[in-house]
Amino acid sequence: MSDGPLPHAREDFDVAAYVRRVRGGPCFVCAVVAGDPAYVFEQVVFEDDLHIAFLDRYPTLPGKVLVAPKAHVEHVVRDLDEEAYVRLMRTVRRVALAVEAVVPSERTYLLSLGSGQGNAHLHWHIAPLPPGTPYERQQFHALMTENGVIPWSPRQAADLAERLRAALAGPAATRLPEGREEELTGGGVNRIVRVGGTVRRPARRWTPAVHALLDHLAAAGFGGAPRAHGCDGEGREVLDFLPGVVPNYPLPAYAMTDEALAKVGALLRDYHDATVGFAPPEGGEWYFPPRVPAEVVCHGDVAPYNCVFREGRPVAFIDFDTAHPGPRVWDVAYAAYRFVPLHDPGRDESAPGVEEQARRLRVFADAYRLGVKDREALTRTARARLEHLVAHMRAEAAAGHEAFAAHVAEGHDLLYLTDSAHIARHEVLFLAALSSEGQGGRVGMSAG
Ligand SMILES: [Zn+2]
Repeated sequence: MSDGPLPHAREDFDVAAYVRRVRGGPCFVCAVVAGDPAYVFEQVVFEDDLHIAFLDRYPTLPGKVLVAPKAHVEHVVRDLDEEAYVRLMRTVRRVALAVEAVVPSERTYLLSLGSGQGNAHLHWHIAPLPPGTPYERQQFHALMTENGVIPWSPRQAADLAERLRAALAGPAATRLPEGREEELTGGGVNRIVRVGGTVRRPARRWTPAVHALLDHLAAAGFGGAPRAHGCDGEGREVLDFLPGVVPNYPLPAYAMTDEALAKVGALLRDYHDATVGFAPPEGGEWYFPPRVPAEVVCHGDVAPYNCVFREGRPVAFIDFDTAHPGPRVWDVAYAAYRFVPLHDPGRDESAPGVEEQARRLRVFADAYRLGVKDREALTRTARARLEHLVAHMRAEAAAGHEAFAAHVAEGHDLLYLTDSAHIARHEVLFLAALSSEGQGGRVGMSAG
């Protein structure tokens, strides 16, 4: 990963000098609001007309963020009317959810402290407690600068701020006012907007089949997909907006944990199982023609950029446009390629090394409870899947599809072929990892 773990170790802190600075100096929150370049650690991660959120220069916990009103007000309850207080707290929650998505934590502390005798500008602390902190080092102990602060560099602060800004740029966990449209990022091929609690996307010839599938999933009790609500008056399909964060490459740390990888595998298994027995509507068309054997309805693009994470955990897949009946392994192989990921580390320096890829591939296959035959087919299916993708991309580009033409112009097709060759080179290692006896005994005991 380009973004290494945040430093955790605390070092002694000159509290007396700090106290002299805050009691004698100008208001540091107002200085950050004014953009004072001296505040290199106080990277701004979020701001609107009324509020600002920035990194804590002297973090007692890794990933600590401060949220403040831009106006110099001092008293947390007396100086704000109810509406202003609620608006501030909504911002605190929004930023805290982003902190949770980016910084590993077992609990998030929220505090408003400060002092009328110095450090008076109202601000809230968002303090993520690292997992596994011993009990006696939690709570007030964790927050006191007398117990040391974490030394870090402006570069590390800039990296953290960038990740928090990316998380905050994703779909917010709060609802927009009804009627207002907001363009969602990551749409790529289509313009996708959010209206209140819904997402609107251009309806296509495959939309009726996809909506029937989403209805079937909801009826089957599968909660890891948006619900469909037909089309609006502008020819757009209407789907539930799913709150959370949607990661992209290079994958943030929370999307690279074994736990996240295993949960994606289990979620994909649940999704596939829920599609068994689904009967597409009469004459329904799919984006891709069905493939044999049609064991399940493949999602067609199971990837981090189509997966909603909440509190660091994958909870749902989105963008079912490319869904089509097909074999389980057709989806599983591509999802493994995307989430392990099986990128050639020679072209993607954020990709794990090949031994780690093999280990993670096994974690994913086990979490899916992938059968023996599908394990044997996984690497060749991943390569076939990538070659299929390249052929599709080039055909669409040649037919004048602008987004695909741009991808080809940027050389995406060649990257996929590079990765396919990487998978071929290490096929023996990957297959050995998939088939070796693990702690749970022989692989492929379950159906599938
Ligand atoms: Zn101030």
